[in-house]
Amino acid sequence: MNVSVYKDALQRKKAELAQDAGLRPLQTQMEHNTGRQGDMADQAAGNNEVHIHLRLKQTDAKILQAIDEALIRIEKGTFGICRDCGEPIAEARLNAIPWTRVCITCKEKQKA
Ligand SMILES: [Zn+2]
Repeated sequence: MNVSVYKDALQRKKAELAQDAGLRPLQTQMEHNTGRQGDMADQAAGNNEVHIHLRLKQTDAKILQAIDEALIRIEKGTFGICRDCGEPIAEARLNAIPWTRVCITCKEKQKA
């Protein structure tokens, strides 16, 4: 497996997410928002939109963390190995989601 391809993909995605987040950690943004409740109330008309936006950002933060972990696994040489069962993760799955931690079998088990 050529991990440098995945490393590139991970770093590109990380840069993309960091740019979307305005390079600020999520927690700082949350604190910032709670300190501006007046502004939030003023934007009540667009409330649903704000809500969806915040939810997206939480997802982004999770992906960013997963990307960092995946980059560490590349350094350690354990990239592409399922965290739960230790089996190799299918390359098709890694191509779709290079920051995934588990193989499709374990992912299905998590949902069940
Ligand atoms: Zn597994």
